[in-house]
Amino acid sequence: MIYRTISELSSAYATGITTPQEYILKLLSTIKDSDKDNNSVIAINEEYVKKILSSIEIKKGKKLYGIPCLIKDNILLEGMEVRAQSKILNGHKAAYTSDVANALVDEGAVIIGYTNMDEFAFGSSTEYSGYGNVTKNAYDKTKVAGGTSGGSAVAVALDLVPFALGTDTGGSVRQPAAFNGVYGFRPTYGAVSRYGVIASASSFDQVGPIANNVEDIELIFGILKGKKSGDQTSIEIKKDESTSKPTIGICSEFMSNLDDSVESKFTTLIDKLKQSYEIKSINLPHTKYILPVYYILQTVEAASNLERFDQIRYAQTQPIANADDLFFKAREAEFGEEVKRRIMLGTYTSSAGYYDAYYNQACKVRKIIQDEYAQAFKEVDVMIMPACPFPAWDIGGKTQDPMAMYTADIMTVSQPIAKLPAISMPLSSKEELPIGLQIVGAEGKDMELLTIAKALESM
Ligand code: GLN
Repeated sequence: MIYRTISELSSAYATGITTPQEYILKLLSTIKDSDKDNNSVIAINEEYVKKILSSIEIKKGKKLYGIPCLIKDNILLEGMEVRAQSKILNGHKAAYTSDVANALVDEGAVIIGYTNMDEFAFGSSTEYSGYGNVTKNAYDKTKVAGGTSGGSAVAVALDLVPFALGTDTGGSVRQPAAFNGVYGFRPTYGAVSRYGVIASASSFDQVGPIANNVEDIELIFGILKGKKSGDQTSIEIKKDESTSKPTIGICSEFMSNLDDSVESKFTTLIDKLKQSYEIKSINLPHTKYILPVYYILQTVEAASNLERFDQIRYAQTQPIANADDLFFKAREAEFGEEVKRRIMLGTYTSSAGYYDAYYNQACKVRKIIQDEYAQAFKEVDVMIMPACPFPAWDIGGKTQDPMAMYTADIMTVSQPIAKLPAISMPLSSKEELPIGLQIVGAEGKDMELLTIAKALESM
């Protein structure tokens, strides 16, 4: 028996139909086989799981008692090998546990293993693992999973676990969720602690849940959120009591150049929404700069974060003849092509002669984009847009063309630029290649956004 949601599995435990031991041990014995054609899971924590299960009874009554889940390969769990799918971290065992993993375990969740991702969370398809693992779409194995949390999205879509964690820097929770017909939520920047999460681009990174309905997303977000001492950018998110009927904004800048399948679904959806909601048109003129702003800032921060990976602290893999070898040899040998591309771009745009022209300029435009959104949210409660202009593409279809891969993020980079929360929910029937409806909320209005998402889900 498969339990797709947390509440279904919790009530199976409560009524004695199954127990965490029985359900999870069975899952461990079948998961490899269920995943063999999709390759979403890269490691199972068998010893750890058995240890947790031996004392799981003490968690009885907790919100996630006995709920199995998976986490992306960039979230630390003490003692486990965590590699962000980079060869430079081969054999790297986490020295401590991340705030998010601690929060799940405290509530009784059982983290059964790790999911596949693009190396250091750079990419949009989950084809860029440094170990060559490619995750395949849950609906069509010739298509990409989306990225970079493609492993987490596919694992949930295949019903391996009721929920998984991903990270979203520029769309990596929402876009793979959209491509696999599941729900993926990116919280307001700072709502969830990044302590113990391998950094991609620090002013953008957020951990987010992927699940099969909004209720589970809300439950997991409630457990993960909060100000924590390990992350000085973390903040408290509270709920307003306002109950008035929401106004929905539609931004024309995000409604052009859509694939036919996406466009027709959106036209139908908007017509339907008009019957129950006030719909307003919104203009965000600086939208034309979002991709350059994102890729300038993302690569500068990524290049800076990647400086720590040398043979002094990590990856003692290459012969060392002199001091230079300590820094360069492993980086040359172990980083993948996309990682090197980000280091080159980010180093260039933040270098002495160029940072005024690129990095500083991008910071200023980021502020303008933030202000533009803040202004728009005075008129509407949420905005809707597609999570991607098209459904999942063929595996290999964009790997030779980095610019094409970057442009696929057009719908998901502006929210991280403006630090906004956003959820992607399925907008297609089970028979077709999934597409995602993205709902974007104002900064800090995560709970209100999820309430509205629930109302739209029930339509
Ligand atoms: N595709 C974007 C990038 O490569 C976003 C990735 C992410 O959200 N981790 O930067």
